[in-house]
Amino acid sequence: MTPSNPKIEQPRLGEPYLLTPGPLTTSYAVKEAMLKDWGSWDDDFRAMTQEVRTSLLALLGEGADDFDCVPMQGSGSFSVEAMLASFIPRDGKALVLANGAYGQRSAKTLEYLDRAHVVLDKGDYLPPRGDEVARILADDPDITHVVAIHCETSSGILNPVEEISEATYAAGRKLLIDSMSAFGAIELKPSELRYEAMVSSANKCIEGVPGFGFIVARKSELEAAEGNSHSLSLDAHAQWAHMNKTGQWRFTPPTHVVAAFLEALRAHSAEGGVPGRGERYTRNRNVMVAGMRELGFETLLDNRWLSPIIVTFFCPADEKFVFDQFYTLMKSKGFIIYPGKLTVVDSFRVGCIGQMDEHVMRKVVTAAKESLEEMGVTSAAPPLRALEERAKLAA
Ligand SMILES: *Cc1c(COP(=O)(O)O)cnc(C)c1O
Repeated sequence: MTPSNPKIEQPRLGEPYLLTPGPLTTSYAVKEAMLKDWGSWDDDFRAMTQEVRTSLLALLGEGADDFDCVPMQGSGSFSVEAMLASFIPRDGKALVLANGAYGQRSAKTLEYLDRAHVVLDKGDYLPPRGDEVARILADDPDITHVVAIHCETSSGILNPVEEISEATYAAGRKLLIDSMSAFGAIELKPSELRYEAMVSSANKCIEGVPGFGFIVARKSELEAAEGNSHSLSLDAHAQWAHMNKTGQWRFTPPTHVVAAFLEALRAHSAEGGVPGRGERYTRNRNVMVAGMRELGFETLLDNRWLSPIIVTFFCPADEKFVFDQFYTLMKSKGFIIYPGKLTVVDSFRVGCIGQMDEHVMRKVVTAAKESLEEMGVTSAAPPLRALEERAKLAA
């Protein structure tokens, strides 16, 4: 059943593991692939671009034939912006499903783009549900598009995109998905879940280095997108048409990043593709969460909503716990963790993605245990307020 994982190596350059949801720890082979220079016009590089596009489409699985892939320079947010600007017509209206920083960022992007939109704001981590989406769409016939975040990386919640998709299409609207931190580890098969477009980037679950994102969209939407974008450089239709015609990116491509990404795609395939990658990340999460809970830490989310991408833990109530000190101690033991993004209680996050396996995750737990001891923290239990907050999820 389980595909054999390629051996996860130790970081060879002595750098700490990045327990962060991108940039993340990459393999030496991925870094090494960047040692060569490529001419952006040359046939060799054009072939590399084409291979990136076809390989990414293949990850969609059944139903991919109706889609095409458009790589876009910049960080992931550039691709989100390109998707929103290109597929939501200027007279369209979006419903943004927000439960964290990335949902908020999409809403902010729409503000800049001057696209009409409403936001269902669920706060820091509560999931937007299908019935809520159905109600809002029924009440507002002007809404043309729903924008959903697949894994909201700010809390780590895996949002219920299936029921969101059902509600969206039952009401005759269109779905756009920010699958930045999920794609490559969690299936997003068009045959099982309807959507018009989704985005992700090089430095998340495919384990490449940062430098570009990609939009995967229905060809019919790409065709219809001509003239929608407010932006020259972020026009997904123009990038797509130009790439199909010339095999080239419109403007200087991140050549080394593309070369590294191809190496990352090869490793992804060798690991068993999306299911293989997803299984390793799930084991990473399970081992890490079990170990942290044994130390007394509590997760923000209960198991049902935990993603295999990143996990939010409440900071211990113990007065001796100081996050900055914890961070520094963890770093000195070889692990970079991530501050939390909750507004109501203090938290921190531990990522499960990147070149790490469960053996590394066991060391993470040991490092956390030792760091607590060094700080003189005797209990990792969170404050009562945190648990009250969490009880809202169950309600
Ligand atoms: C990483 C991420 C993005 C993009 O962030 P950048 O910093 O622009 O790369 C967007 N949405 C989600 C859900 C993410 O995890």
